[in-house]
Order: sequence, then C-alpha cells, then structure tokens
Amino acid sequence: MSKILNIAKKIISNHYLCDNCLGRMFGGLSRGLSNEERGRAIRETVKMDIHLQLLEGKRVPRKLLKSLISLYNEMEMKSLLEERGINIAPKVIESSCEICGGLFNELDDILTELLPYILEYEFTGYVVGVTSLPEYEEREERIKMKYGLWFSESIRSELSRELGKKLDKKLRVANKAVEYDPSSPEATIIIDITNKTVEVETKPIQIYFEVYREKERPLFAKNCKSCRGKGCETCDYIGKEAGNSLEYALGKVMLKETGGRRWRFSIKYLDRENDKIEVYLKVIRPKKRNIDVKRLIKTLDIEGFNIVNARIEK
Ligand SMILES: [Zn+2]
Ligand SMILES: [Zn+2]
Repeated sequence: MSKILNIAKKIISNHYLCDNCLGRMFGGLSRGLSNEERGRAIRETVKMDIHLQLLEGKRVPRKLLKSLISLYNEMEMKSLLEERGINIAPKVIESSCEICGGLFNELDDILTELLPYILEYEFTGYVVGVTSLPEYEEREERIKMKYGLWFSESIRSELSRELGKKLDKKLRVANKAVEYDPSSPEATIIIDITNKTVEVETKPIQIYFEVYREKERPLFAKNCKSCRGKGCETCDYIGKEAGNSLEYALGKVMLKETGGRRWRFSIKYLDRENDKIEVYLKVIRPKKRNIDVKRLIKTLDIEGFNIVNARIEK
C-alpha cells in the first residue's frame, strides 16, 4: 500500500488529474470499481494519510498540500491545516485534467450529438470502439513513464467502456432493444472523439433471389471506368457503371431498400432451359436489416423484375 500511496502522492503533487484519469493510472490493481471511483478512493486515502501524519505531528510536504488545495480544490484540507496554524492559501486555480482536459465530463454531450446518426441503423448486437487519440495517449504515456506505471489502463480502453455504458442507456431510452455482443455484432460503432464523428459498420445482409432472366438484359454490371470498381464520386461510391444490367438495376433497388453502400453480386443457373437463375446479392453496410420479404418481392415486381422468390440471411 505504501508504494501505491507514495506514487499517488507524487502524481498529485505534480499534476492535476481528474478522478477518471487518476484512477486509471492504477487501473490494473483492483477490480469492481470504475476508474472514477478508484481515483476518488486514492484521493481520499492520500488525504487520510496526511491527516494521520498531521495528528502524529509529522511533516507533510508543502508541495502536496499546495496542490491538493489549489489544484484539487480540497477545501476541508485547507481548513484542517489552518486549524493547525498551517497557512497554505494559494488561490484555487481553475484547472482541467492534464491528460483528458475534462473529456470524461463531455461524453454525454458528445453521444447526444452522435445519437441521431447511430439511430439510422438497425441492429441488436453491437460493440463500441474509439479511434486512436494520439494527443491524449501521448500525455497519458508521459505520466505513465515518469512514474513507472506499468499497471495502468489506457485512456482508449476506458473511453470505449464508458461510452459503451452511456450509449447503451441512450439506445434503450430511444426504445432500441440492443445488447452488447462482441462475438458477432451486427453493428460496430466507432467513435472519433477528436473530431466528434461516428462510423457505424454493420454486418452485410445476404439476399437470394430466384429470377427469370430476360434475354435482352445483360446480367452483370461493368465496373466504373473512373475508379475501376473501387468507388468514386462518378459512381456514387458503388464502383459500378450505371446501365440496364440485372445486377445494376437490382443492386440499386436494394441499396435504396436497405440504405446500404455497395453490393456483391453473383448468379447460379437453376434451370437453364427456362432461364431461371438464383441471384446472390450481398449488401454492404446496410442501415435497415429488418426487411419484409413479401413486401420486397412486391416492390421488385412493380419495378419490373420477374422475381419468383426471395430469402434473406442476416
Ligand atoms: Zn482526466
Ligand atoms: Zn467510380
């Protein structure tokens, strides 16, 4: 304990860290607490230790006392010292956490801003991740190195977890039946904290159609000439050249139905004599995945496709 207490005292003497960041520095050393709770516990322990030393008439480093009062705003500590005739009365400095700059207090606001975009997607099982945060990670690394903290948790890992917890609540309030599912998530939600943006990567949906092909209609779409299939502005990032092929026509309708970005397409002959084929269409990054097959067949019928049957695998 004394080793941890000594490190904590050194950190507090030299840096202002919020409870999340202070707790995270010791993140690998206890379980069942959030870093915020752990940080508060560390701060309280340091204060108790100082109190005991004062009662025992021992000397307490001035720098630590000064930091606790002026940076950590520990007013009880201030009056405790004044009762003993120790007058450390520097001004309280409005400081923000040296690692996160107060980021952990902003998470709710950031999520509220990003929520409408996330709600455009249909999913049940999901995971949340955070893109790398070079500036925050560098600041954190410097403190870890300085105090030999090899047992800390990383800010990125804490952020993913805390954002996950908060997002889960918000999604449930928005009436979404969701669950954290790292084994086979339907959606991987990646939050970019620095730019306050979010990317939602959804699992593709695969649709099998039984179709009577029209002889005059080409089956396959050509790759876009400008990007050769990679996706560019000209082709609307689909990678295909517009045309009357079955692939392009069906693909376009399915992107509209699902809000997907691109597709993969292949066919198999079921009955060569009658030109009956099975079309396999995989929609990449769909927004909608709960699709009513009967309604879909009806829509495609109106669009002029000769669909006999369709089935969806999610
Ligand atoms: Zn912090
Ligand atoms: Zn293109």
